[in-house]
Amino acid sequence: MELDIIKSTDSEVAELIEKELERQRNTLELIASENFTSKAVMAACGTVLTNKYAEGKPHKRFYNGCENVDAIEELAQKRCCELFGVEHANVQPHSGAQANMAVFLYALKPGDTVLGMDLSNGGHLSHGSPVNFSGMYFNIVSYGVNENGEIDYEDVEKKALECKPKMIICGASNYSKIIDFKRFKEIADKVGAYLMADIAHIAALVATGEHPSPAEYADFVTTTTHKTLRGPRGGIVMCKQEHALGIDKAVFPGIQGGPLEHIIAAKAVALKEALKPEFKEYAKQIIKNAKALADSLMSNGMDIIGNGTENHLMTLDLRKYGKTGKDIANVLEEVGITANKNTVPNDPQSPFVTSGIRLGVPALTTRGLKEDDMKEVGEIIALAVLNSDDKEKLAQLRERSQKLCDKYPLY
Ligand SMILES: *Cc1c(COP(=O)(O)O)cnc(C)c1O
Repeated sequence: MELDIIKSTDSEVAELIEKELERQRNTLELIASENFTSKAVMAACGTVLTNKYAEGKPHKRFYNGCENVDAIEELAQKRCCELFGVEHANVQPHSGAQANMAVFLYALKPGDTVLGMDLSNGGHLSHGSPVNFSGMYFNIVSYGVNENGEIDYEDVEKKALECKPKMIICGASNYSKIIDFKRFKEIADKVGAYLMADIAHIAALVATGEHPSPAEYADFVTTTTHKTLRGPRGGIVMCKQEHALGIDKAVFPGIQGGPLEHIIAAKAVALKEALKPEFKEYAKQIIKNAKALADSLMSNGMDIIGNGTENHLMTLDLRKYGKTGKDIANVLEEVGITANKNTVPNDPQSPFVTSGIRLGVPALTTRGLKEDDMKEVGEIIALAVLNSDDKEKLAQLRERSQKLCDKYPLY
């Protein structure tokens, strides 16, 4: 329907969107940061709200005619506070990176020291990578993980005592263990640092109690809305009331202009969905599916960092096969599986090549796959790794993943 409208104006773009829909329907999506939104979330993104300028906050705007977007944004804020048990939420950040940038702008001065997780150990670019503004304007000290893929909290504490950071960041893009937010808070308190918890990846698990919440420990909690939370692409900053005004100012006018009210409406819809009992079931199934996938991979001889997972993702370690993440990600694409290359702890390969593959189950769980299906997915992946040069075998595996796609139709 929407496609027909686009087609009548721009057949080129319409055709590409159609192709993308087919791609999503006919591949198994294992990129840990991706998901499939509901049609309601998607519909909210494509509304007249995209026409509205609303710089400022609800009831404190720089433009007139904001009564409807005010009410929508307030709904999003209220639902977010309820879902995560936080005092204040700014739902305007355009992305997760923007949410983090707002915290940096509010809490730090250029040159201040920040202790964050290293990118190649599972952290995020926006936690102090030298190629990101966070690494350019602040003094970054990094912590990492051990061979088991676990944060060494003793090491974090030691580094904190040495470098006396103004802020400590916890939360990751590739970490398969439970994060001990309480421990991070104790360390932050010892050195008088702010604690920022970035739950971009685990938001749905935190919201439903499948992962401990940082709400009572962290000064700032940031998240994306499009990963496990299954909303539109975007970010949110949450904080205690004492920081509310400063965070709001950092988002606007600090780093952004007019908020995307159509996306904020979609965030409100997604947050409403996340407050429903079905979403709890969804989060529980994510955990079950991730365990089932890890078990299947390991029983087919594959190495998983840390020998399993406690959340929605895992890293397949290809070192013993002498294969690279770059090559295997392409092999997986050939068999109808989308995933991304990722470094393993102390990776001998460069970040562009890597020795690992990150695998996440949130998207397949949304699609309806259960433990038995994950067993099959694990087998397909293992056989693809072992037969990566055998075109005929790969073609057979492609058929097996297509069967799963057909069993669980998308949209
Ligand atoms: C994905 C992610 C982000 C950034 O989100 P974008 O919306 O891509 O900017 C920030 N932090 C963590 C931990 C992430 O995984």
